[in-house]
Amino acid sequence: MRKILIFDTTLRDGEQSPGFSMTVPEKLAMAEQLARLEVDILEAGFPIASRADFESVREIARAVGSRVVVAGLSRALPDDIDRAGEALKGAGRARIHTFIATSDLHMAHKLKMTRERVVETAVAAVRRARRYTDDVEFSPEDASRSDREFLYRVLEAVIKEGAGTLNIPDTVGHSMPWEFGGLIRDILSHVPGVEKTVISVHCHDDLGLAVANSLEAIRAGAGQVECTINGIGERAGNAALEEVVVTLRLRPEQFGAETGVKTEEIAASSALLVEVTGIPVQPNKAVVGANAFTHASGVHQHGVIAKAETYEILNPRLVGVEGMRIHLGKHSGRHAFRRRLAELGADLDEGAFEGAFQRFKDLADRVKEISDDDLRNLAGGGGPESAPAGPFVLEHLQFTSGTDIVSHATVTMKVREETVMHSAWAYGPVEAACKAIDQACGMTGKLLEYSLRAATPGKDAVGEVRLVVEYEGMRAEGRGASVNVVESSARAYVAALNRLIRVAAAEGKGPKKA
Ligand code: MN
Repeated sequence: MRKILIFDTTLRDGEQSPGFSMTVPEKLAMAEQLARLEVDILEAGFPIASRADFESVREIARAVGSRVVVAGLSRALPDDIDRAGEALKGAGRARIHTFIATSDLHMAHKLKMTRERVVETAVAAVRRARRYTDDVEFSPEDASRSDREFLYRVLEAVIKEGAGTLNIPDTVGHSMPWEFGGLIRDILSHVPGVEKTVISVHCHDDLGLAVANSLEAIRAGAGQVECTINGIGERAGNAALEEVVVTLRLRPEQFGAETGVKTEEIAASSALLVEVTGIPVQPNKAVVGANAFTHASGVHQHGVIAKAETYEILNPRLVGVEGMRIHLGKHSGRHAFRRRLAELGADLDEGAFEGAFQRFKDLADRVKEISDDDLRNLAGGGGPESAPAGPFVLEHLQFTSGTDIVSHATVTMKVREETVMHSAWAYGPVEAACKAIDQACGMTGKLLEYSLRAATPGKDAVGEVRLVVEYEGMRAEGRGASVNVVESSARAYVAALNRLIRVAAAEGKGPKKA
């Protein structure tokens, strides 16, 4: 088995895309996680791009030590290379990655350089980078649209200067997999000295082909793939690391190759990137999407419950996901409903089960998500209400909010049959409402999760809030829906407190007052 090197560029190509910029401490946290994922090379930034980019490359190089090769990007300019060399000084294993465009289009319009000048510049850049490290990677930018003979010439020249890795980018995501594989084969058979180097690929996803192009390149003989967590990167992004790695793990016979990545860290890496950037992954994303291991249709649920392999090609644990998820909703059947009830400890006889199942279907027709609390309620003979009643009832909510003013909220609540009114202020109206509710209920909940989504289309959409509240070590979920999202939030929060207070009562705990 050949080993394919995984070159992660989440912190460089990924980080430079809109919405994904990270602070130095955030990049450090990601770098630590990428080291745990055991990627081979970690591109930490573009040191000359900014002071913070320089800092992050330097800090990451120090922090990861010799666990991972740390790369810094530079154009083929002396100052760029010196800056990268400076930033990488403390690295256990440093790589300078330098690039210059080789397509006629880029050379004429962007660089305004002749072919001769580009070859000279590339050679000088690699030579200068070698002053700082023996590990130099060279990229002919826009390689897939470059003239073949010229590309061979540039590559031959930089190999002579000691570039050990030749990275062939499909910079604009323009190649078809068979074309790109052909390009790699041609480079391997036409460039003198190429056998001493590692051919790398860097594919963009403009046509959704970044992973396919990378895989075809591996089949053609590439030994390194540049990729990012969750496929982030310029425009439509880069090849998704998790998709490349998992494909090689699942179908190594197709490639005669494997990677050294610790796949069990994939879910944690994806989740950390989402946490750091605040940008979620689409639910249907391969490998790391929330639905990637979720089965929703009754037929599929029946199948996977009987034998996982019927609809599951990959054990979720292999990528660090706890296990397959059965989504209980309107498409679910009796098998899945019975299994989840059993997991929740509800053992119903046939008659009770059938009644609960019918009430479940009624509820599933009306709401998007059915929680475990809903299921317990249904199993206990409850009706298809999504939020069972409790001691706290929100009767009235009033709030003021705006830009540059603090928010105030006043709630009128029924607390164990007694009407109480409380006010609070905060920087945002949701926080103000939750604080006022805490005072009215005499308990202080800690908000652990909060999500808001439109349950209906249009500007007048119903906003559905789902949140998780912690109180004295217990956790409960609450949901609320309204066209007013502050009201949705308040209703969800009250629903969660109601659940918590019931659990607290059952365990003999109670609120401090009220
Ligand atoms: Mn790129």
